[in-house]
Formats: sequence, structure tokens, C-alpha cells
Amino acid sequence: MTAQSRPVVAEPIALVDMDGTLANYDFAMRRDLLRLASPEEVHLLNESKDMHSLERMPHWKARMDLIKRTPGWWRDLPRMEAQFRVVDLMRKMYFDLHILTKGPWKTTSAWSEKVEWCREHTPFASVHVGEDKGLVYGKVLMDDWPHYILRWLTWRTRGLVVMPAQPWNEGFEHPNVVRWDGSQEAWEEVERRLWEIRQTALYTEDNAPEVIRASGLARCPECGEKYVEHPHDLGFLSYDRQPFVRVACDGRRLKL
Ligand SMILES: [Mg+2]
Ligand SMILES: [Zn+2]
Repeated sequence: MTAQSRPVVAEPIALVDMDGTLANYDFAMRRDLLRLASPEEVHLLNESKDMHSLERMPHWKARMDLIKRTPGWWRDLPRMEAQFRVVDLMRKMYFDLHILTKGPWKTTSAWSEKVEWCREHTPFASVHVGEDKGLVYGKVLMDDWPHYILRWLTWRTRGLVVMPAQPWNEGFEHPNVVRWDGSQEAWEEVERRLWEIRQTALYTEDNAPEVIRASGLARCPECGEKYVEHPHDLGFLSYDRQPFVRVACDGRRLKL
């Protein structure tokens, strides 16, 4: 079999944002701005819906830039457990998980700290730190920021977005977007829509590659590893949603 004639693996890619989705940027920023605030400023901070609105004022922005440059600040951002529930659900459906996060323009040290954060909290995912999320391919995006959501949907008109409910996305609605507010109702909707889109990354009878039987303990002639050590073809899931086909190094699909 030549490289060109190998069946293409369907790619159930799920992209997950970091700040405001998995990592609580807003909480940490508010906490640290309170430390730098005068007594008269405290109420302003407490009344601000979110920290992005403060960023428009130069004196607040300067303090925020200072905080963002504190070594370890990005690495130590607290987790947002509600969204980790969705990540776990994605993993149970065998989505291929990728963290997609914007690298701050000026604070480039944050780029490596963001990767460190992901290694600790999402060791099962690849990490993409970039400057334009709209360019990245995926079946699903979980993101809290309407501007990025719309940008991404421009080229993914059938893509699904799970949007964690935040004060700054209140009222934002789109047919491709499910709002995730932690309620049972939203959970059922997220589960239903995720599974619906997961199925579009499964082979159909018409395009499924041939699957042959092999022993899991037999060794692959190309890499010398046992077949059971080879990756799954996530384009096949059994009736109980488990992968069961391995991909040998020569591209053959194996049922062990
Ligand atoms: Mg975000
Ligand atoms: Zn191999």
C-alpha cells in the first residue's frame, strides 16, 4: 500500500481554550488587582463584571500588565472545574484533545508558562499557543469569548462550540453554540451535541478502510513494537463507544 492510497483517519479534534475556560484568569486578575487598589478603588473592582472592561483604562491596564509579567502568574492560574467536566466527557467520546490558547502579544514569557500549566492540568492534550485561533482546524471548540468563537466559525460552518457561561458572553447566541452553565439541562444538551458531532468523525460503510485480524502480541515489521502498542483509529468506535481498531505503521487497520 502506498502512502497516497492509505485511508485517511477521520479526525475528531476538539479544541479547548485556556483563559476563562479551563484557567480562571479573571479570578486571579481581580484578586491581584485588589492588592494594588486604594480603598476608593475597591468598589470599582468589585462592581466590574469582568476584568476586560477595566483594561480599556490606561492606569488599570498598566497594573494588569505588571501582574501578567509576574513570574509564575500564568503557571499558577486556578482551574475551572465545570469545564473540566466537559473535557472529561470529550475524552470519554474519544475526541482528540488540543488546548488552543492565545499567547499575549507582549508577555511572551506567558507562552511557556501556559504550556507548563497544560502539562500539569491537561497532560493528555497537545498544546497550541498562537495568535489567531480562527486558523486552527477542529470539529469542536470550547471557548468563552464570542469574538474568537465567531472568527473560528467563519471557516467551520458546521463546527460545534461549547461556550462556558461568563458575564462577558451573556446574551450571545448562535445556532452552532451551546451555552454551558453547569445545569443539568445544559449538560444533557452538551452531551447530545457532542455525540452528534463525534459521529461525523466516524467512518461510514462507504468510506471505512478494510480491517484485518491480528494478534496484539505480534510485532509490527516496521517499528518492532507489539501491535497492541499502536494507536487507535478513532474513526471506528464500537456500540459502547470504545475504539477497537489499531493502526499499524504501514497503515493497515487491525482488529486485535
Ligand atoms: Mg478565553
Ligand atoms: Zn509499528
